[in-house]
Amino acid sequence: MRQVIIIGSGPAGYTAAIYAARANLAPLVIASSVEAGGELMNTTEVENFPGFPEGVMGPELMEKMQAQAERFGAEVLYDDVVSLDVDGPVKRVALGSGATHEAATIIYATGSAPRKLGLAGEARLSGHGVSYCATCDGFFFRDRVIAVVGGGDSAIEEATFLTKFASKVYLIHRRDQLRASKIMQQRAFTNEKIEPVWNSEVADILGDDAVTGVVLRSTVDGSTRELPLEGLFVAIGNDPRTHLVHGVLELTPEGTVRVDGRSSRTSVPGVFAAGDVVDPTYRQAVTAAGSGTVAALDVEHYLAAQADAVSTDELETVAGASGA
Ligand code: NAP
Repeated sequence: MRQVIIIGSGPAGYTAAIYAARANLAPLVIASSVEAGGELMNTTEVENFPGFPEGVMGPELMEKMQAQAERFGAEVLYDDVVSLDVDGPVKRVALGSGATHEAATIIYATGSAPRKLGLAGEARLSGHGVSYCATCDGFFFRDRVIAVVGGGDSAIEEATFLTKFASKVYLIHRRDQLRASKIMQQRAFTNEKIEPVWNSEVADILGDDAVTGVVLRSTVDGSTRELPLEGLFVAIGNDPRTHLVHGVLELTPEGTVRVDGRSSRTSVPGVFAAGDVVDPTYRQAVTAAGSGTVAALDVEHYLAAQADAVSTDELETVAGASGA
């Protein structure tokens, strides 16, 4: 049986793995078969991770974190967790490959997934003009007119990146002010390929086999109009990935895993959670990394307390047997 299994391989998972490995806990990281490295694998340049004054590409940052965890003895498995059994002192993690791994503790660091608009045409045209990842799909939109939906840092980052390929990028936002940080806003407003479309939401996505346009609805007066385009990138935030722990761990009203105060302790003893899956507010690579640190330290303390309890029991048994 392992001391700790870490589910997730974003900044929270790998930072937890670095700390757990350096504490000689020989962590097993379940990194996912298709989404290893987490959301930063879909990001371009990360400019705000301390220690990289010139910036660092998201995938490169994740490779470095993995290498650092492996250097201290973490083992990484590219597989998907299909179910969790966390009742009792031995936790069981069943994988898509059919294997089951056991551990005394689990760190749940599954991050978050891109939010959907929830429109009828969205699923049908996903991969046919509708995308959630500019770095993955931007290349296909060379000299095309496209749009990004959203007003946060992700939307601006995607829109700015997409101007490398597209001839024009509409930025469709439901209000008349962006949520994105000032430096990102400045970057978008000075880019002549980006045209903001304020106070508008996407009411429908048009096209049979490929996106041909969208229907925009004004959030001011409800009027609608069509905007022809060939690609729609949705960047309206992320939702915590909690599908494996519904009915298993307590969740908050925001849908994140509930943890005890500033710790990573969940509602189940021996199960800890870290990163975007517990954070409805900050969701930065660096805060996720910090949260992974907390989880690894909490695991260390938990295991030490368990070991102490076992030794005390043994002492009492020995004392009882010798009649002391
Ligand atoms: P976010 O900050 O939550 O922004 C989501 C945006 O989408 C908001 O502008 C929101 O509009 C809009 N939106 C949400 N639901 C919508 C819907 N159903 N229809 C239309 N619009 C909708 O999410 P994010 O941009 O993904 O950023 C998440 C976190 O990651 C943030 O903390 C951000 O700072 C961070 N991040 C940082 C960087 C960076 O620093 N380089 C890059 C990417 C992300 P309202 O504004 O009206 O609510």
